[in-house]
Amino acid sequence: MLDSHNIEMNHKYLDEHGMDELIGIIKHELAHYHLHIEGRGYQHKDRDFRELIKKVGAPRFCTPLPSELKKRVQSFKVYACSVCKQPYHRKRRINTAKYVCGKCGGKLQYIKTLER
Ligand SMILES: [Zn+2]
Ligand SMILES: [Zn+2]
Repeated sequence: MLDSHNIEMNHKYLDEHGMDELIGIIKHELAHYHLHIEGRGYQHKDRDFRELIKKVGAPRFCTPLPSELKKRVQSFKVYACSVCKQPYHRKRRINTAKYVCGKCGGKLQYIKTLER
């Protein structure tokens, strides 16, 4: 947690990955905090971070920090009316047999899934 500089570890890590990897993860997290406290580049893409990681022999990637989690890509499905081509964006799949275009009542067609 970058606010408190506490490290939260999930017990599952130890069970699933073993001690060596757990130590790697802790080193990695400490690198984040160390650089964050010093006001240097503490993100994965930052050079400061990558160099420190190399120096201490920690893995380059960790489980996402809560702040990174919020930025996670959202995907949504694009549908369009088969008659008037009005586009519709939905987070979930919809049953195109059940829903029709709000403008003209035409059948909706699945177009593609977008990420942002
Ligand atoms: Zn990380
Ligand atoms: Zn329509």
